[in-house]
Amino acid sequence: MTQPSIAIIGAGLAGLACARHLARAGLAFRIFEAGDAVGGRLRSDRVDGFTLDRGFQVLLTAYPEAKQLLDFDGLNLRPLYRGADVFFQGKRHLLADPFHHPIDALKSLPDGLIPWMDKWQMLMLCKEASGIRSVERRLPEMETEDYLKDFGFSHEAIDRFFRPFFGGVFLEKDLRTSARMFLFLYSMFQKGGAAIPAHGIQAIPEQLAVALPPESLRLNSPVAAIQPGHVTLKSGEIVKASHIILAVSEEAAFHLLPESVGEKPKPPRGTTCLYFATSDPLPGRSILCLDGENRGPVNNACVLTHAAPERAPHGQHLISTSIIGTPSSAELEEVVREQMARWFGQAARRWRHLRTYQIRHAQPEGRQLHPGNGPLPAMITPGLYRCGDYVEDVSINGALVSGRRAAEAVLSSLSLH
Ligand SMILES: Cc1cc2nc3c(=O)[nH]c(=O)nc-3n(C[C@H](O)[C@H](O)[C@H](O)COP(=O)(O)OP(=O)(O)OC[C@H]3O[C@@H](n4cnc5c(N)ncnc54)[C@H](O)[C@@H]3O)c2cc1C
Repeated sequence: MTQPSIAIIGAGLAGLACARHLARAGLAFRIFEAGDAVGGRLRSDRVDGFTLDRGFQVLLTAYPEAKQLLDFDGLNLRPLYRGADVFFQGKRHLLADPFHHPIDALKSLPDGLIPWMDKWQMLMLCKEASGIRSVERRLPEMETEDYLKDFGFSHEAIDRFFRPFFGGVFLEKDLRTSARMFLFLYSMFQKGGAAIPAHGIQAIPEQLAVALPPESLRLNSPVAAIQPGHVTLKSGEIVKASHIILAVSEEAAFHLLPESVGEKPKPPRGTTCLYFATSDPLPGRSILCLDGENRGPVNNACVLTHAAPERAPHGQHLISTSIIGTPSSAELEEVVREQMARWFGQAARRWRHLRTYQIRHAQPEGRQLHPGNGPLPAMITPGLYRCGDYVEDVSINGALVSGRRAAEAVLSSLSLH
């Protein structure tokens, strides 16, 4: 059989996962990536000896597809504490996961942040979410906030814990994201917790890329157009391809696909991440800190070096602060410092600002509202396929699953599957 010519456009997680599955099936392909490195939305930068992820990201170690495809040991994963420190009315309140930190959870029972009954409801929610391994159709199709109210949570629990915690995950604080997505993620947090790779989130795509034939990847090669049978690079070069796999974001796919395919995507969800450094001692643990008052601008913060000292030069701390949305204001850094001074003490006013990332296209909106309608079909037309988080569900896991599904669709069209 003559080898098909396969072009993958995009070397984010979905494109790399697709490539890995095609390589395992013995197929050759070429990946065209617009950026100067693999990873897409999972990128890290080295700045003055600090490793900064482009936006705060964690890997949930229970993600089923990630467990299949990634070598977790090779990522040097550093777990975050199972729970959160909630800042509310000038006090830090520990909310510990009772299954993993029962003593901490018992100690914090009388702390008054949320009513006792809600702590019981959280245990019930763990039971409800325990068997969930994907974003399933049988789960309720409603907004997360309505689901939590119907479940019996008080407004204190929703506003002081769920809104900042899952607002930071969904990148929206109305909790309008589908309860199906919420239950899937709640289950993943329960089963495995969250971790960060010691040397930056980009270690994940790099691990996938390193196993690919080196000549298969072309960086700095944006694709300008696709037509049946070939792709045209921005440089003008035309590359023949009997099978084209679009592994780009929803927005980029919309611009490359013919007008007849798909609706214009809703505006994406954005986030802003400011990094600070300090050599002052910072007591505490590797825990997510939350804005229980929802006053902002920072929704969540984390002293990354408590989990991964490798992220900073010896004797330094690296602090990540995340804002939902992409506000632009000259005073932003100052306002964030003030808030951090309330959380971590006056020394925060002296923290060194390292960099601010504004990420306008962090997560697609549409897929998060009705992810349980099932994934979009991987094959668009014969010879043209798609993958990406917007095809499956918006997560590292969803991007990996969608990459596998696109590879399976190619293999099945070649009758190899
Ligand atoms: C700040 C932030 C925080 C997040 N937090 C989490 C988290 O904690 N946990 C979690 O599970 N998920 C999280 N996510 C979501 C997760 O990162 C994404 O769902 C996932 O990375 C999407 O991968 P992808 O391959 O579908 O798309 P992308 O990563 O967007 O990859 C698409 C690739 O296509 C390339 N491309 C685009 N156009 C072209 C073109 N014309 N020619 C060639 N190449 C092109 C891009 O350069 C890019 O490399 C977060 C995302 C962000 C941004």
